[in-house]
Amino acid sequence: MKRMRIAISAGASGIGLAIAVSFLEAGAQVYICDLDETALADCRLRYPGIIAVKVDVGSPANVDAFFDEILAGGGHLNLLVNNAGVAGPTAPLEKISIEDWQNTVNIDLNSFFYCSRRAIPMIRKSDNGAIINIASNAAFFGFPLRSPYAASKWAIIGLTKTMAMELGPDGIRVNALCPGSVEGQRIHSVIAKDAECRGMTNQEVADEYKSQSSLRTFVTTDDIVAMVQFLSSPAGRRISGQAIGIDGHTEGLSLKMGV
Ligand code: NAD
Repeated sequence: MKRMRIAISAGASGIGLAIAVSFLEAGAQVYICDLDETALADCRLRYPGIIAVKVDVGSPANVDAFFDEILAGGGHLNLLVNNAGVAGPTAPLEKISIEDWQNTVNIDLNSFFYCSRRAIPMIRKSDNGAIINIASNAAFFGFPLRSPYAASKWAIIGLTKTMAMELGPDGIRVNALCPGSVEGQRIHSVIAKDAECRGMTNQEVADEYKSQSSLRTFVTTDDIVAMVQFLSSPAGRRISGQAIGIDGHTEGLSLKMGV
């Protein structure tokens, strides 16, 4: 049997790295790309088995070079995880610059297209191919002050369902994961930006975010890794075209205080 081969976009830290390490430990050949040289260097040092390449996933030419490298390393790919997603601006829509809008949508949505179009021919060469798109619970609700992020995440669901229909007849599954706030560095900076914009304390914003989930909880990268592993295992072989919340059931993302 051919060795499992996995590619993760924007995977040198956070959720992407946790997914990468779980597949490395399971014996897969893992390729990640990322823009952050420090995170890449750290990843190479800690996990020499991961092939970590510097790529701006918002650049189609950069993305092409990444997939050319994977192609050169062998023909097939079992799994692509589209994980790129910057938080983007925190501001009312009329205060968002065109540059900020375009940059957010380019990374949070367009990069999924840039990566998928190159990965699909390689995934067709594997016998259990899948694509997992990392969206957000912002794909289920309006999200005040985060319009380019929310619009991109909603679009990922449309992309996921369409790709599931196009690729399903060839046995390729495509699903979206929709995490709520994930414990870690990134959520702290998101909370700080939100607090500053709305004149609240970080603690008030964190409490508000938690209160938006029925389970009154943030989630962890382990929760997301477990779902990616499940979907990639034989147990997940009939699941496609789904947008799966990993969020303690978000009831809404409306702002209870400030604006
Ligand atoms: P993170 O910020 O910890 O890591 C993201 C990685 O993307 C970083 O290593 C960064 O260097 C890289 N990156 C950013 N721009 C890039 C570019 N142009 N080219 C290549 N790499 C680039 O983020 P995370 O929390 O691990 O989030 C991963 C995904 O999960 C994102 O799509 C995010 O929207 C989604 N998500 C996160 C949370 C959360 O609370 N952290 C909640 C819901 C959804």
